[in-house]
Amino acid sequence: MSTSLTASDITPYRGRFAPSPTGPLHAGSLVAALASFLDARHAGGAWVLRIDDIDPPRAVAGSVGLITEALSAHDLHWDGAVRYQSQSSDAYHRALQQLAETGALFRCRCTRSTLSDQGTCGQRCEQRAISDDEPHSLRVRFDAAQLAGFADRFQGMQPVTPETAVADFIVRRRDGLFAYQLAAAVDDAQPHFTHIVRGADLLDSTHRQRWLMQLLGQTSPCYGHIAVMHDGDGNKLSKQNGAPELDLARTPDNLRDCLTHLHQPAPPSSARENGEILDYAIEHWTLHI
Ligand code: GLU
Repeated sequence: MSTSLTASDITPYRGRFAPSPTGPLHAGSLVAALASFLDARHAGGAWVLRIDDIDPPRAVAGSVGLITEALSAHDLHWDGAVRYQSQSSDAYHRALQQLAETGALFRCRCTRSTLSDQGTCGQRCEQRAISDDEPHSLRVRFDAAQLAGFADRFQGMQPVTPETAVADFIVRRRDGLFAYQLAAAVDDAQPHFTHIVRGADLLDSTHRQRWLMQLLGQTSPCYGHIAVMHDGDGNKLSKQNGAPELDLARTPDNLRDCLTHLHQPAPPSSARENGEILDYAIEHWTLHI
């Protein structure tokens, strides 16, 4: 009997789709969901649904139900229970403490009008004593010279460029909420997830998240960023730009459209059901390098 091991036996793959609950799924988010799903299933790995609900002011009531309904309608079934970032506050608090111990964290009292053009602290807050009662955010100094670039599985080598190497960035907002960069860095580090597949609009964030993981002594997952979808005017298809909700009466067509965007081979026309389309797409997934 053959006992040869495959890559997924050696490194159990754990991937995820991590939408924010800011509205229903649209074609752009379906592409990210599908790419992360296919990559995980092709590797024989797990695919988790994580809801990034750390920004209540931006949350739209009913979104989680609409997102899970749309995923299920496309037969994109996730493993285990849905994870919610709002349930990981303790982990984010611990990470902030750990960042403070590294000396990289500082209080910043900047408001929009005092920030630099790059969105970094514009008043040297680091050198001031800012009391607990004074409204402030928490920022991390980004020493980009200490961070290596990374090999993106789909986009190739990603060096840390002067544009991405901002001086600092927010990890806890002035209103007390945890910033996306912090929550994503804490949640995405191995062993929670081994592979992250998401839109290329998040590439700059990836450098920041990898920096936080490095400061926290965590191992980064492998990253693969896919091209984002644009509307007719060249804007990224997003909820903010008013991307239309997916039509759940034509899920096989939606999947086929996403596969075309991802430059995947077209499933044969005899594949009419979602399951048949997905089986073909899992088998023929070709974004690997
Ligand atoms: N929740 C964020 C979004 O929907 C981040 C996604 C990610 O890190 O994959 O844009």
